[in-house]
Amino acid sequence: MLSYRHSFHAGNFADVLKHITLIQSLEYLRNKDKPFCCIDTHAGPGKYALDGDYALKNREFDNGIAKLWQRNELPDSVAHYVSLIKRFNSSDTLTRYPGSPLIAKQLLRDKDRLCLFELHNTEIKLLTAEANKDKRINVFHADGLTSCLKLLPPFERRGLVLIDPSYEMKSDYQQVVETLIAMHKRFATGTYALWYPVIERSRNQKLERAIKACGINNVQLFELGIRADSDEHGMTASGMIVINPPWTLTAEMKQILPWLADVLGHNDEGFYRIQTLAGE
Ligand code: SAM
Repeated sequence: MLSYRHSFHAGNFADVLKHITLIQSLEYLRNKDKPFCCIDTHAGPGKYALDGDYALKNREFDNGIAKLWQRNELPDSVAHYVSLIKRFNSSDTLTRYPGSPLIAKQLLRDKDRLCLFELHNTEIKLLTAEANKDKRINVFHADGLTSCLKLLPPFERRGLVLIDPSYEMKSDYQQVVETLIAMHKRFATGTYALWYPVIERSRNQKLERAIKACGINNVQLFELGIRADSDEHGMTASGMIVINPPWTLTAEMKQILPWLADVLGHNDEGFYRIQTLAGE
């Protein structure tokens, strides 16, 4: 039984890093004329009301998109991200936030495809309504980690897989590594972007060790923390582990992560990590 609802967390500091990574990776794929396929294994409902009860409960977006919304002189990739979010808001007031499916949809060309997986019975209905009979989008009410293997390699032979689990079960940390290995066996040239939270650092250390040991090359880690590691504050940091990142991504992250750590960090506790988990 799944209980996680991303509506409580939409637009928080973790979404900022995740969605900038998604946008930068898709922009890179768009640079070439050839079509690509984007797969989102944990799509969520597609969009979020930041003026709705769920988002307002803890107002996590206040320390994410809301801090960037009215700010001038943003770094380029942050400005691009904010401009995509602004397209969903009809006025200057921030009330809507697109999830990864609607962000990716904005970056699709006619020839590109988007495949979305979602398991939650309520979220899948919302997501299906959002896909809105767009011929480029396929929505699957299925387990994204196992079912997405059937789509690999995509016939375009170019693409990105976003893996954004809710980590409701501790076993998810192990399962994502096994899935990455299986995905990479089928489609070794694809880009894979795995999101992770930092709640208990030892779990992340285990995850990083498993990725380093799994034999996959060309893996980068990008992490943004808003507080020093602690067991008392829930999620204090989050990151993206990217296999076959666009060659431009690390340089971009070097520009924006110090800036984001400064702007979104609590009481000067913001920090970032950029690490090569496996060389090319
Ligand atoms: N990617 C979304 C975004 O950026 O807007 C947020 C996704 S949220 C973190 C994770 C979602 O995965 C939840 O909606 C949850 O219901 C769904 N989920 C959990 N386990 C799943 C699985 N095995 N396959 C597909 N969806 C799953």
